[in-house]
Amino acid sequence: MSENEKIILTGDRPSGKLHIGHYVGSLRQRVALQNKGEFKKIFIMIADTQALTDNFANPEKVRASVTEVALDYLGVGLDPSRVTIFIQSQVPELTELTMYYMNLVSIARVERNPTVKAEIAQKNFGEGVPCGFVCYPISQTSDITAFKATTVPTGEDQKPMIEQAREIVRKFNDIYGPVLVEPDILLESNEACLRLPGTDGHAKMSKSLNNGIYLSDSADTVREKIMSMYTDPTHLKVSDPGHIEGNTVFTYLDAFSKPEHFERYNSGFASLDEMKEQYKKGGLGDVKVKKFLNEVLQEELAPIRERRAEHEKDIPALYEMLKKGCEDARETAAQTLSEVRRAMRIDYFG
Ligand code: ATP
Ligand code: MG
Repeated sequence: MSENEKIILTGDRPSGKLHIGHYVGSLRQRVALQNKGEFKKIFIMIADTQALTDNFANPEKVRASVTEVALDYLGVGLDPSRVTIFIQSQVPELTELTMYYMNLVSIARVERNPTVKAEIAQKNFGEGVPCGFVCYPISQTSDITAFKATTVPTGEDQKPMIEQAREIVRKFNDIYGPVLVEPDILLESNEACLRLPGTDGHAKMSKSLNNGIYLSDSADTVREKIMSMYTDPTHLKVSDPGHIEGNTVFTYLDAFSKPEHFERYNSGFASLDEMKEQYKKGGLGDVKVKKFLNEVLQEELAPIRERRAEHEKDIPALYEMLKKGCEDARETAAQTLSEVRRAMRIDYFG
């Protein structure tokens, strides 16, 4: 299939503001794909229904985060004239599809999903895990297939979701006929971006773990977070040899630094490899590396923050944009749903 017949669906949960993990794992690539203009359609979903699966008792948080996520989108340069930005709950066709797909997945299969397992362990579901939460990969399959998406750009944690979506599509098409499209995941090629760690060194920067640098953080906050970041606990004196593996500051440099930064910010090194070599040998202090990282990150985040602040001045326009996006998304999802109903023999009245 040529690029110009391909369709993208991707999105984020409105469970907080977006952070630099989202940026390198997915947002930056979305903007590049948008600007290349080779895809037939790009749908970007604010997954409020999914966010409610584990935030059901906190609807205000989800509602407020919809605004924040939409602002983050415009901040990073997503352009509503070229991509369709919509809110999941406003496309009820997605919920109906979920109901039908539920029959195609066993309880054992949903419980086996490694990302869901890890998230269940991380969240404190007091009285028990909500059914909606365990089943969110099924609902995510509805989101992807409703738009006949061929391509889903995401971080690595979403691999099991796409695998599950492909299984559901195959099963549906086997039983009811070839209606749905099997999606492919599109992962970043830069390994550091697949699962950016938190500033605390935790394996994943996550809204729910409060270990993120947010796209909307002020320049001062970004600097403070960088200066208190986790590095190498064995690197006590500047002269000590240091470790790069598991050293979050270097992972962020892997994700963000470009060759031209090393001269521009007087790093004292010609490249990241040289900087790493020196750190490993000893004689390069964490503060110096962190100051360099701060320059690199500020350069990338400043224009995002400014654009975001501009859009924040006109929230009614933001909601007008979202409303149009929801209408547009609904049209496509309704078309797929009618094909699904026909294939399932539940199109009683034509
Ligand atoms: P939550 O804790 O509520 O699940 P989250 O931080 O995991 O929030 P999501 O909205 O679930 O964020 O994920 C949105 C997208 O960002 C997904 O494509 C996901 O793979 C990607 N992503 C999230 N965190 C990271 C990260 N630390 N590094 C790279 N990609 C990430
Ligand atoms: Mg997540």
